[in-house]
Amino acid sequence: MFDKILIANRGEIALRVLRACKELGIATVAVHSTADEDAMHVRLADESVCIGPPPAKDSYLNIPAILAACEITGADAVHPGYGFLSENARFAEILADHNVHFIGPRPEHIRLMGDKIAAKRTAKSLGIPVVPGSDGDVGSDDEARRMARDIGFPVMVKAASGGGGRGMKVVRSEAELASAVAMARSEAKAAFGDDTVYLEKYLERPRHIEIQVLGDGKGRAIHLGERDCSLQRRHQKVWEEGPSSALNTAARDAIGETVAAAMREIKYLGVGTVEFLYDDGAFHFIEMNTRIQVEHPVTEMITDIDLVLEQIRVADGNDLALTQGDVKFHGHAIECRINAENAVSFRPSPGKIIHYHPPGGLGVRVDSAVYHGYAIPPFYDSLAGKLIVHGKTRSECLMRLRRALDEFVIEGIETTLPLFRALAQEKDIIDGDYHIHWLEAFLARG
Ligand code: ADP
Repeated sequence: MFDKILIANRGEIALRVLRACKELGIATVAVHSTADEDAMHVRLADESVCIGPPPAKDSYLNIPAILAACEITGADAVHPGYGFLSENARFAEILADHNVHFIGPRPEHIRLMGDKIAAKRTAKSLGIPVVPGSDGDVGSDDEARRMARDIGFPVMVKAASGGGGRGMKVVRSEAELASAVAMARSEAKAAFGDDTVYLEKYLERPRHIEIQVLGDGKGRAIHLGERDCSLQRRHQKVWEEGPSSALNTAARDAIGETVAAAMREIKYLGVGTVEFLYDDGAFHFIEMNTRIQVEHPVTEMITDIDLVLEQIRVADGNDLALTQGDVKFHGHAIECRINAENAVSFRPSPGKIIHYHPPGGLGVRVDSAVYHGYAIPPFYDSLAGKLIVHGKTRSECLMRLRRALDEFVIEGIETTLPLFRALAQEKDIIDGDYHIHWLEAFLARG
């Protein structure tokens, strides 16, 4: 097993990785910007190295500084968490050139799935159903028009290198197409340095259902069921749960097996998530994320499998210890992403936490790196913590969630806790009857 892992991230995910390392008896190195000197992951790690000033590009994205931290500390592997360098194939290659393991898939798979057009093409060739759309860049205005007519309006313009919901435009008629393509191109160029855009059929009321996979890079791969992440704002997940109210066992097993077989075929290494829009009983692939995801605890709670621990084991060259038969689903789990934001305007609310009391008790998990007296810096994402609740049934889970939300105290900053308290009382949520646009409609009603 690795002797020492450097965690190239911050916040709750740095702490999450650190916990897995401690349980495995692996020494840990935290890296941090000057804004994160007081961060919990820095305090709890065995060693820490300051890698630069607050802006992420100078610290958490600073590859030479992270490499130097590996050399200084003798770390033999890097866990990238999510975001930052977690889907940067070049980073994985540079680490390999310096004999440091990257805890993630092989660079070619990161690169393949990082290009959404190539990812869709690959998914299709592996027998995974995809959203109907253009096979490549939309090309000229005339070509775009022809493609859109073939697909049928409404269509969505999407960035090939997209992420975080950016560079997406819904187009309802031919008249809007050229300007939407131009806008998506310039947004994509600015955000990702790549202005390749493609078209997809725009689905009006689908659910976002994603399948968790785990592979050992040697042809063994399993699925760990699904998470329903349909409650979104600006294409960003807000509330995730599993299992999905929309699937029965047969549907879950069928899509899970299709995805696992594809992962076996490409000899996928590590954890990954294959994302679908689920509409009218049919799955449509949209993308694959080649890293641990924010919402991974939902799966951990309903399978009792530690995904980060398994991720580290397979990255170290071990065979997958689990078979598909070992994966048993029990109960229901819901995760709420509690952001340091105003619950109505969603304006970020960084600053000092003057009272902090997380909920506890049976079936309640809080993944967070904040503490009493901690000041959330303004430089990074606004995730203050995740509340994950498990119950034997969905209704027990909801009951426990309402109780846990009532208990949760975070004062000194604004948080999205009030939004979750409201959602947990809503009839459609209680009935499990929602789709990807439900939350925006709910928020618009005020
Ligand atoms: P990103 O990588 O930027 O997160 P995704 O392709 O994963 O982009 O899509 C994010 C979200 O955008 C989806 O969960 C869904 O809500 C919405 N979306 C994406 N593609 C479509 C589509 N073809 N029709 C309707 N909604 C879509």
